[in-house]
Amino acid sequence: QKTEFKNFPMVPRVVFGKGSFDQLGDVLMPKRKHSEAPFIFLVDDVFENTELAKRIPLIFNDQIIFISAEEEPKTVQVDALVDKIKNEYQDLPSGIVGIGGGTLLDLAKAVAILLTNNGSSSEYQGWDLVQKPSIFHVGIPTISGTGAEVSRTTVLLGPEKKLGINSDYTTFGQVLLDPDLTKGVSKEQWFYTGMDCYIHCIESLTGTYLNAFSQSYGEKALDLCKEVYLGDLSEEESRDKLMMASWHGGMSIAYSQVGVAHAMSYGLGYLLGVKHGIGNCLVFQHLEEFYPEGVALFNKMKDKHGIELPTGICSQLSEAEFDTMIKVAMNMVPLWENALGKNWRDTITPEKLESIYRKI
Ligand code: NAD
Ligand code: ZN
Repeated sequence: QKTEFKNFPMVPRVVFGKGSFDQLGDVLMPKRKHSEAPFIFLVDDVFENTELAKRIPLIFNDQIIFISAEEEPKTVQVDALVDKIKNEYQDLPSGIVGIGGGTLLDLAKAVAILLTNNGSSSEYQGWDLVQKPSIFHVGIPTISGTGAEVSRTTVLLGPEKKLGINSDYTTFGQVLLDPDLTKGVSKEQWFYTGMDCYIHCIESLTGTYLNAFSQSYGEKALDLCKEVYLGDLSEEESRDKLMMASWHGGMSIAYSQVGVAHAMSYGLGYLLGVKHGIGNCLVFQHLEEFYPEGVALFNKMKDKHGIELPTGICSQLSEAEFDTMIKVAMNMVPLWENALGKNWRDTITPEKLESIYRKI
């Protein structure tokens, strides 16, 4: 049997720097097809009526669509956005620009793919199901941690599953990293989304899929997370470094996988709508058995910043509901294999997962 090495795409162009958002107009200009082919800006609605919204470089028939990040992206939401854009314009857009956290970045990726690929976005959840190149799409994170700005996936909640559209066409064609855009994030959200990055590092660095490629990015991201959450950086340095930690964390899992916290967090997200960042934290705190050092450091960071995680999330659930969460989690086979090796089923049983969920 021939060994298969992944040949994965990277973001071909990236702008980095405080204040670089003001360069967006120049960055987009060469990508404008003609005056009837707009740029569509999908923007987190926390920015409605803010200075940032006024700085978006609209020309011709460009449009801003404000979208709430209250709930994580859904396939029906992607489909509706694609229909709206197709109905309002005769020509395909020049590009889609996502401005926000992982939610908006993932929406932008999915909409760009579905503008050129027929049918519902739910038909493309999985690995390498996308047939045609997407339209040009740009990612501009306003909160750091998910690594969605570099990854080749867009995670969507569909009718049957919460799963990414993993494809070579998912990756952004351009990313703009302006650390100043993260200024308004609340302390809690800063912690939860930043811990997504930290957990990417721990899961990648302790996994069986680890290799020198992933390790080099994972170690860098982990060092940056430690500086940000345990050091005494200025606010400006901290914003810069967390943005680069997110990038490196995303690069680390590109050539490996995430692990136990992510598998179980998907179950919480699917059943209860618990969001990715906080869901990872809720699970990770109870994973000493799998990640002893990682959890100890996590608790240290949590205490330093006075973060209190909610409790009792799973206390009222029925057996059927536990079963649903466990099924979703156990379906994430590559994550378990990475965490525990080929024989992961020896350790991970429905009873084991239920006992962890019951602590949350
Ligand atoms: P998010 O996008 O939901 O944002 C979290 C909260 O922060 C929201 O309330 C949002 O409005 C607010 N916010 C964002 N920027 C702000 C700013 N500058 N000022 C004030 N408030 C701001 O959360 P997230 O943690 O960034 O992303 C989670 C999503 O990312 C999930 O849907 C998850 O599935 C996805 N994800 C994707 C990947 C990937 O590789 N594609 C990886 C990890 C997570
Ligand atoms: Zn994650």
